[in-house]
Amino acid sequence: PGGHVAPKKLTLEDIFIAVKTTGRFHKARLALLLETWISKTKAHTFIFTDEEDQELRSEGYNMVVTDCQSDHSQQALSCKMSAEYDGFMASDKRWFCHVDDDNYVNPDALLSLLSAFPQDGDIYVGKPSLDKPITAHELLEGNATREVHFWFATGGAGFCLSRRLAEKMAPWASGLRFEQTSAAIRLPDDCTVGFIVEKRLGVAMVHCPLFHSHLENLLLISHSSIPQQVTLSYGMFENKMNSIEVKGSFSKEEDPSRFKTVHCILYPLTSWAFTVHLK
Ligand code: UDP
Ligand code: MN
Repeated sequence: PGGHVAPKKLTLEDIFIAVKTTGRFHKARLALLLETWISKTKAHTFIFTDEEDQELRSEGYNMVVTDCQSDHSQQALSCKMSAEYDGFMASDKRWFCHVDDDNYVNPDALLSLLSAFPQDGDIYVGKPSLDKPITAHELLEGNATREVHFWFATGGAGFCLSRRLAEKMAPWASGLRFEQTSAAIRLPDDCTVGFIVEKRLGVAMVHCPLFHSHLENLLLISHSSIPQQVTLSYGMFENKMNSIEVKGSFSKEEDPSRFKTVHCILYPLTSWAFTVHLK
Protein backbone atom coordinates (compact mmCIF):
# COMPACT_ATOMS: atom_id res chain seq x y z
CA PRO A 1 0.00 0.00 0.00
CA GLY A 2 1.30 3.41 -0.95
CA GLY A 3 4.29 1.90 -2.74
CA HIS A 4 5.25 2.31 -6.37
CA VAL A 5 3.76 -0.11 -8.85
CA ALA A 6 6.23 -0.71 -11.67
CA PRO A 7 4.50 -0.33 -15.06
CA LYS A 8 4.15 -3.70 -16.75
CA LYS A 9 6.86 -4.25 -19.34
CA LEU A 10 5.59 -4.28 -22.92
CA THR A 11 5.59 -7.68 -24.61
CA LEU A 12 5.14 -8.57 -28.28
CA GLU A 13 1.69 -10.03 -27.51
CA ASP A 14 0.56 -6.57 -26.35
CA ILE A 15 0.81 -5.33 -29.94
CA PHE A 16 -2.24 -5.69 -32.20
CA ILE A 17 -0.88 -6.12 -35.73
CA ALA A 18 -3.48 -5.49 -38.42
CA VAL A 19 -2.67 -6.71 -41.94
CA LYS A 20 -4.74 -5.29 -44.77
CA THR A 21 -5.34 -7.67 -47.66
CA THR A 22 -7.91 -8.68 -50.27
CA GLY A 23 -9.21 -12.03 -51.56
CA ARG A 24 -7.02 -12.20 -54.64
CA PHE A 25 -3.87 -11.59 -52.58
CA HIS A 26 -4.40 -14.41 -50.03
CA LYS A 27 -2.19 -16.76 -52.06
CA ALA A 28 -0.21 -14.19 -54.03
CA ARG A 29 0.98 -12.15 -51.02
CA LEU A 30 -0.38 -13.21 -47.66
CA ALA A 31 0.93 -16.80 -47.85
CA LEU A 32 4.51 -15.47 -47.84
CA LEU A 33 3.83 -13.45 -44.69
CA LEU A 34 2.26 -16.45 -42.94
CA GLU A 35 5.34 -18.52 -43.72
CA THR A 36 7.69 -15.85 -42.47
CA TRP A 37 7.02 -13.15 -39.86
CA ILE A 38 3.42 -14.02 -39.01
CA SER A 39 4.69 -17.43 -37.87
CA LYS A 40 6.18 -15.46 -34.94
CA THR A 41 3.17 -13.23 -34.22
CA LYS A 42 0.16 -15.37 -35.14
CA ALA A 43 -1.80 -14.98 -31.88
CA HIS A 44 -1.88 -11.18 -32.04
CA THR A 45 -1.93 -10.63 -35.80
CA PHE A 46 -5.31 -9.90 -37.38
CA ILE A 47 -5.92 -10.30 -41.09
CA PHE A 48 -8.45 -7.80 -42.48
CA THR A 49 -9.81 -8.95 -45.81
CA ASP A 50 -12.95 -8.95 -47.96
CA GLU A 51 -13.33 -12.65 -48.70
CA GLU A 52 -13.83 -15.69 -46.48
CA ASP A 53 -11.02 -18.28 -46.70
CA GLN A 54 -11.74 -21.67 -45.11
CA GLU A 55 -8.11 -22.72 -45.37
CA LEU A 56 -6.87 -19.74 -43.35
CA ARG A 57 -9.76 -20.11 -40.93
CA SER A 58 -9.03 -23.80 -40.31
CA GLU A 59 -5.36 -23.00 -39.71
CA GLY A 60 -6.43 -20.79 -36.82
CA TYR A 61 -5.48 -17.35 -38.09
CA ASN A 62 -7.35 -14.33 -36.70
CA MET A 63 -9.35 -13.25 -39.73
CA VAL A 64 -11.81 -10.40 -40.02
CA VAL A 65 -13.90 -10.52 -43.17
CA THR A 66 -15.15 -6.98 -43.67
CA ASP A 67 -18.11 -5.89 -45.78
CA CYS A 68 -15.78 -3.49 -47.56
CA GLN A 69 -15.62 -3.44 -51.35
CA SER A 70 -12.74 -5.42 -52.78
CA ASP A 71 -11.10 -2.68 -54.83
CA HIS A 72 -8.35 -0.14 -54.48
CA SER A 73 -10.72 2.83 -54.12
CA GLN A 74 -10.27 5.40 -51.37
CA GLN A 75 -13.57 4.33 -49.88
CA ALA A 76 -12.79 0.60 -49.86
CA LEU A 77 -9.41 1.16 -48.25
CA SER A 78 -10.81 3.58 -45.64
CA CYS A 79 -13.50 1.01 -44.88
CA LYS A 80 -10.80 -1.57 -44.11
CA MET A 81 -8.73 0.84 -42.00
CA SER A 82 -11.88 1.65 -40.05
CA ALA A 83 -12.43 -2.06 -39.39
CA GLU A 84 -8.81 -2.39 -38.24
CA TYR A 85 -9.23 0.49 -35.81
CA ASP A 86 -12.52 -0.86 -34.43
CA GLY A 87 -10.97 -4.33 -34.11
CA PHE A 88 -8.13 -2.91 -32.05
CA MET A 89 -10.45 -0.85 -29.86
CA ALA A 90 -12.45 -3.96 -29.03
CA SER A 91 -9.25 -5.83 -28.08
CA ASP A 92 -7.23 -5.68 -24.88
CA LYS A 93 -4.00 -4.79 -26.70
CA ARG A 94 -1.80 -1.82 -25.79
CA TRP A 95 -0.60 -0.78 -29.26
CA PHE A 96 -2.20 -0.77 -32.69
CA CYS A 97 0.03 -1.33 -35.73
CA HIS A 98 -1.19 -1.39 -39.31
CA VAL A 99 0.71 -2.98 -42.21
CA ASP A 100 -0.07 -3.86 -45.83
CA ASP A 101 0.22 -7.40 -47.22
CA ASP A 102 3.49 -6.47 -48.95
CA ASN A 103 5.25 -5.61 -45.66
CA TYR A 104 7.69 -7.70 -43.65
CA VAL A 105 7.44 -6.93 -39.93
CA ASN A 106 10.51 -7.57 -37.78
CA PRO A 107 8.88 -8.46 -34.45
CA ASP A 108 11.87 -7.81 -32.19
CA ALA A 109 12.61 -4.44 -33.79
CA LEU A 110 8.95 -3.46 -33.47
CA LEU A 111 8.93 -4.38 -29.80
CA SER A 112 12.15 -2.44 -29.14
CA LEU A 113 10.79 0.63 -30.88
CA LEU A 114 7.47 0.68 -29.04
CA SER A 115 9.07 -0.21 -25.69
CA ALA A 116 11.15 2.97 -25.88
CA PHE A 117 8.04 5.22 -25.77
CA PRO A 118 6.20 6.19 -22.61
CA GLN A 119 3.52 3.50 -22.53
CA ASP A 120 0.81 5.89 -21.37
CA GLY A 121 1.72 8.55 -23.97
CA ASP A 122 -0.04 9.79 -27.11
CA ILE A 123 2.13 8.17 -29.78
CA TYR A 124 1.66 8.01 -33.57
CA VAL A 125 4.82 6.65 -35.19
CA GLY A 126 5.66 5.84 -38.79
CA LYS A 127 7.51 6.99 -41.88
CA PRO A 128 6.45 10.35 -43.31
CA SER A 129 5.09 9.89 -46.80
CA LEU A 130 6.36 13.19 -48.14
CA ASP A 131 9.23 15.51 -47.21
CA LYS A 132 6.75 18.14 -46.08
CA PRO A 133 3.25 18.19 -44.60
CA ILE A 134 0.44 17.34 -47.00
CA THR A 135 -2.09 20.04 -47.94
CA ALA A 136 -5.75 19.10 -47.73
CA HIS A 137 -8.96 21.01 -48.29
CA GLU A 138 -11.23 20.14 -45.44
CA LEU A 139 -14.88 20.26 -46.39
CA LEU A 140 -16.83 22.43 -43.94
CA GLU A 141 -20.56 22.98 -43.61
CA GLY A 142 -22.22 24.88 -46.44
CA ASN A 143 -19.69 23.71 -49.05
CA ALA A 144 -16.92 25.93 -47.63
CA THR A 145 -13.40 24.50 -47.48
CA ARG A 146 -10.41 25.21 -45.31
CA GLU A 147 -6.80 24.50 -46.22
CA VAL A 148 -5.00 22.34 -43.65
CA HIS A 149 -1.44 21.01 -43.45
CA PHE A 150 -0.32 17.95 -41.56
CA TRP A 151 2.14 15.05 -41.54
CA PHE A 152 0.99 11.48 -42.06
CA ALA A 153 2.67 8.08 -42.05
CA THR A 154 2.58 6.08 -45.30
CA GLY A 155 0.20 3.17 -44.80
CA GLY A 156 2.36 1.08 -47.12
CA ALA A 157 5.28 1.34 -44.67
CA GLY A 158 3.20 0.50 -41.59
CA PHE A 159 2.56 2.72 -38.57
CA CYS A 160 1.56 2.37 -34.92
CA LEU A 161 -0.71 4.15 -32.44
CA SER A 162 -0.63 3.90 -28.66
CA ARG A 163 -3.87 2.85 -26.95
CA ARG A 164 -4.27 6.20 -25.23
CA LEU A 165 -4.05 8.11 -28.52
CA ALA A 166 -6.32 5.63 -30.31
CA GLU A 167 -8.95 6.20 -27.63
CA LYS A 168 -8.78 9.97 -28.12
CA MET A 169 -9.32 9.46 -31.87
CA ALA A 170 -12.69 7.77 -31.39
CA PRO A 171 -14.91 10.84 -32.12
CA TRP A 172 -13.42 10.94 -35.68
CA ALA A 173 -12.40 7.32 -36.17
CA SER A 174 -14.87 4.89 -34.62
CA GLY A 175 -17.60 3.12 -36.56
CA LEU A 176 -18.82 5.09 -39.57
CA ARG A 177 -16.89 8.18 -38.54
CA PHE A 178 -13.55 7.14 -40.02
CA GLU A 179 -14.99 6.97 -43.53
CA GLN A 180 -16.81 10.28 -42.95
CA THR A 181 -13.57 11.95 -41.88
CA SER A 182 -11.80 10.50 -44.91
CA ALA A 183 -14.55 11.84 -47.18
CA ALA A 184 -14.36 15.29 -45.54
CA ILE A 185 -10.71 15.70 -46.57
CA ARG A 186 -11.07 13.60 -49.73
CA LEU A 187 -7.85 11.73 -49.00
CA PRO A 188 -6.96 8.06 -48.42
CA ASP A 189 -7.04 6.15 -45.15
CA ASP A 190 -3.43 6.76 -44.10
CA CYS A 191 -3.78 10.53 -44.62
CA THR A 192 -6.98 10.42 -42.59
CA VAL A 193 -5.14 8.95 -39.60
CA GLY A 194 -2.60 11.79 -39.82
CA PHE A 195 -5.36 14.38 -40.08
CA ILE A 196 -7.18 13.08 -37.00
CA VAL A 197 -4.01 12.85 -34.90
CA GLU A 198 -2.33 16.11 -35.94
CA LYS A 199 -5.27 18.40 -36.75
CA ARG A 200 -8.09 17.14 -34.54
CA LEU A 201 -5.98 16.19 -31.54
CA GLY A 202 -2.91 18.41 -31.97
CA VAL A 203 -0.50 15.52 -31.44
CA ALA A 204 2.63 15.51 -33.61
CA MET A 205 3.55 12.36 -35.48
CA VAL A 206 6.87 10.73 -34.53
CA HIS A 207 8.97 10.44 -37.71
CA CYS A 208 10.79 7.12 -37.79
CA PRO A 209 13.17 5.95 -40.53
CA LEU A 210 12.82 2.27 -39.59
CA PHE A 211 9.54 1.79 -41.49
CA HIS A 212 9.78 1.14 -45.26
CA SER A 213 7.40 1.09 -48.20
CA HIS A 214 8.10 0.26 -51.86
CA LEU A 215 7.72 3.95 -52.70
CA GLU A 216 11.32 4.43 -51.56
CA ASN A 217 14.48 2.90 -53.06
CA LEU A 218 14.84 -0.24 -50.96
CA LEU A 219 18.36 -0.92 -52.30
CA LEU A 220 19.55 1.82 -49.95
CA ILE A 221 18.91 -0.31 -46.84
CA SER A 222 22.19 -1.84 -45.75
CA HIS A 223 22.42 -5.55 -44.97
CA SER A 224 23.91 -4.87 -41.53
CA SER A 225 20.98 -2.65 -40.50
CA ILE A 226 18.28 -5.26 -41.18
CA PRO A 227 17.93 -6.42 -37.55
CA GLN A 228 17.01 -2.83 -36.60
CA GLN A 229 14.50 -2.19 -39.41
CA VAL A 230 10.90 -2.40 -38.20
CA THR A 231 9.21 -2.99 -41.57
CA LEU A 232 10.32 -3.78 -45.12
CA SER A 233 8.43 -3.96 -48.38
CA TYR A 234 8.77 -4.88 -52.05
CA GLY A 235 7.01 -3.98 -55.26
CA MET A 236 7.38 -3.05 -58.88
CA PHE A 237 8.85 0.33 -59.71
CA GLU A 238 9.23 1.42 -63.35
CA ASN A 239 8.85 -2.22 -64.46
CA LYS A 240 11.65 -3.41 -62.15
CA MET A 241 11.43 -5.17 -58.81
CA ASN A 242 12.17 -2.78 -55.94
CA SER A 243 13.36 -4.94 -53.05
CA ILE A 244 16.07 -4.93 -50.44
CA GLU A 245 19.49 -6.32 -51.35
CA VAL A 246 20.45 -9.32 -49.20
CA LYS A 247 22.44 -12.44 -49.95
CA GLY A 248 21.44 -15.74 -48.42
CA SER A 249 19.87 -19.12 -49.03
CA PHE A 250 17.46 -18.02 -51.74
CA SER A 251 18.08 -16.65 -55.21
CA LYS A 252 16.20 -13.63 -56.48
CA GLU A 253 14.08 -15.99 -58.59
CA GLU A 254 13.15 -18.13 -55.57
CA ASP A 255 12.63 -15.15 -53.31
CA PRO A 256 11.94 -11.96 -55.30
CA SER A 257 10.64 -10.03 -52.28
CA ARG A 258 13.75 -11.14 -50.26
CA PHE A 259 11.42 -11.75 -47.28
CA LYS A 260 12.38 -15.44 -46.98
CA THR A 261 16.06 -14.51 -47.03
CA VAL A 262 15.55 -11.82 -44.38
CA HIS A 263 13.52 -14.21 -42.25
CA CYS A 264 16.33 -16.78 -42.34
CA ILE A 265 18.87 -14.13 -41.33
CA LEU A 266 16.71 -13.07 -38.38
CA TYR A 267 15.66 -16.64 -37.47
CA PRO A 268 18.45 -19.00 -38.58
CA LEU A 269 16.82 -21.93 -36.77
CA THR A 270 13.77 -21.85 -39.08
CA SER A 271 13.25 -25.39 -40.38
CA TRP A 272 13.42 -24.39 -44.06
CA ALA A 273 16.19 -21.80 -43.60
CA PHE A 274 19.27 -23.59 -44.83
CA THR A 275 17.95 -26.70 -46.59
CA VAL A 276 17.56 -25.31 -50.09
CA HIS A 277 21.25 -25.88 -50.92
CA LEU A 278 20.97 -29.65 -50.41
CA LYS A 279 19.64 -30.31 -53.89
N1 UDP B 1 -5.75 -3.77 -51.33
C1 UDP B 1 -7.07 -4.01 -51.00
N2 UDP B 1 -7.98 -4.08 -52.02
C2 UDP B 1 -7.62 -3.93 -53.32
C3 UDP B 1 -6.28 -3.68 -53.64
C4 UDP B 1 -5.36 -3.59 -52.60
O1 UDP B 1 -7.39 -4.17 -49.83
O2 UDP B 1 -8.49 -4.01 -54.18
C5 UDP B 1 -4.76 -3.70 -50.25
C6 UDP B 1 -3.57 -4.59 -50.52
O3 UDP B 1 -3.84 -5.89 -50.10
C7 UDP B 1 -2.48 -3.89 -49.76
C8 UDP B 1 -2.88 -2.42 -49.85
O4 UDP B 1 -4.27 -2.40 -50.18
O5 UDP B 1 -2.46 -4.28 -48.40
C9 UDP B 1 -2.10 -1.65 -50.91
O6 UDP B 1 -2.25 -2.29 -52.15
P1 UDP B 1 -1.06 -2.43 -53.20
O7 UDP B 1 0.19 -2.84 -52.49
O8 UDP B 1 -1.53 -3.35 -54.29
O9 UDP B 1 -0.94 -0.99 -53.82
P2 UDP B 1 -0.05 0.27 -53.44
O10 UDP B 1 -1.03 1.24 -52.89
O11 UDP B 1 0.98 -0.14 -52.45
O12 UDP B 1 0.55 0.68 -54.74
MN1 MN C 1 1.93 -1.93 -51.94
